[in-house]
Amino acid sequence: MPDFLNKLYIGGEWRDGDNGKVFDVLNPADETVLTTVADGTVEDAMACLDAAESAFPSWAARSPRERGEVLRRAFDIYMERIEDIARLITLENGKAGADAIGEAKYAGEFFRWYAEEAVRSVGYLGMAPSSGARLMVQQKPAGIAVLVTPWNYPAAMGTRKIGPALAAGCTVVVKPASETPLTMLALVPILEEAGVPPGVINILPSRSSGAVVGAMLADRRVRVVSFTGSTEVGRKLLHAAADNVVKPAMELGGNAPFIVCHDADVEAAAEGLMVAKMRNLGEACTAANRIYVHENLEEPFVDAFTAKMAKLKMGDGLKTGTDVGALVNAETRDKIDHFVRDAVQKGAKVKLGGIRPNGPGFFYPPTVLAEVPDNAECLRDEIFGPVAAIQTFSDENEIIERANDTEYGLVAYVYTGDMSRGLRISEQLEFGMIGLNRGLVSDPAAPFGGVKQSGLGREGGKEGLLEFQETQYISAEW
Ligand code: NAP
Repeated sequence: MPDFLNKLYIGGEWRDGDNGKVFDVLNPADETVLTTVADGTVEDAMACLDAAESAFPSWAARSPRERGEVLRRAFDIYMERIEDIARLITLENGKAGADAIGEAKYAGEFFRWYAEEAVRSVGYLGMAPSSGARLMVQQKPAGIAVLVTPWNYPAAMGTRKIGPALAAGCTVVVKPASETPLTMLALVPILEEAGVPPGVINILPSRSSGAVVGAMLADRRVRVVSFTGSTEVGRKLLHAAADNVVKPAMELGGNAPFIVCHDADVEAAAEGLMVAKMRNLGEACTAANRIYVHENLEEPFVDAFTAKMAKLKMGDGLKTGTDVGALVNAETRDKIDHFVRDAVQKGAKVKLGGIRPNGPGFFYPPTVLAEVPDNAECLRDEIFGPVAAIQTFSDENEIIERANDTEYGLVAYVYTGDMSRGLRISEQLEFGMIGLNRGLVSDPAAPFGGVKQSGLGREGGKEGLLEFQETQYISAEW
């Protein structure tokens, strides 16, 4: 493990924490300590803001083309080192090699996409209807952005924010998840080599997340807080952002329904569910959480899906042939085990898996539960693991109502052989994203995000850039 991976990165320098404390980062596959990392303090957070403040004027003044070219170089260098990044993701997060490479590619695309979008931020010129004054409307960099990321995608949840922030001309402080800070630190040499100046990006691992993020949001220099994580923490950050009216972007939890209509292609739907449920071993905000199959298709669908799940091999994510790696920590594994026991005790039938292995390592096997009763806890809360909870339905209107019966609204999936039915159902679903005959919606070119308590704002697409910009309008006497 290179030395710099256990430091803070502030103003272009690697530093120990202000109080000299460190915290452990574990390998979830065997519970050994990979390394220790400096534990950032409130003083370190203020040093990050000082660095971001000094770097802001010159970075914001660079031409969009120059900023875009820095990001494009970052993409090229990143792609040369993608295997190393993927390996580090597996080491600290536990996911299997294929999931790690999948994430690493997705993560890199945010450098390329926002290298291209940096030069496409246009305003407009218009005439005021009554006065005849000219209305000149333009987008300006919003200022210093605090980026807080979760452990489930240690690279992608960072680059999905860093790409648009740097393209817009913002400077940033990144607070990565304490379980997985290493991947974010490993991006630094790539960004430095690509030409990102000191202070434009600062990285602050910290076990005192509430204190350091709270202190930064209380500082008037911060203009954006972009958070990905649980709805519970998102609410706290919205409260904290309110005092200084900091612009929030919130990518929060999900409880995705996966609807298989009576006219769906069973094989395609089962394959789609493998992606929607098992990508990242279920540790995804987009993971299918409530699976609704038309009662006429229950048996063939459950059989087809269970057969696919039974082929998956669980083990150390670094080993060739592993499909399902380790979960990130004991708490996540125990919560999943609790959900399965609760559902089974209430009447669900175990078609596959359902038995928690002994350690070492935080493993849980691919599990299929059928006939899950409505009162099972796993239907209300994010499972965040390799457990598929299947129910049936008989009527289209009934299933739309059941799918919408949640405080979340991130993503929903619909499988049908009739596109007009699919579009009709999609439009009635209260979700920010719909996978229609697809089990994957994430795409750097598309606006990712949720409605209701799944969040505010969008990442990716054209929309992602706007989160880091402010609109200014000049009323001019022509
Ligand atoms: P989390 O517990 O909310 O933590 C996310 C980040 O917030 C971590 O960096 C964490 O730091 C930090 N944090 C925790 N408490 C904080 C506080 N009081 N103030 C400021 N920061 C705080 O979420 P997680 O368990 O890492 O991630 C899983 C959740 O993320 C799931 O709910 C999932 O659905 C959601 N997610 C959403 C999306 C999306 O795009 N909508 C994508 C991925 C994940 P520490 O690690 O130091 O505690």
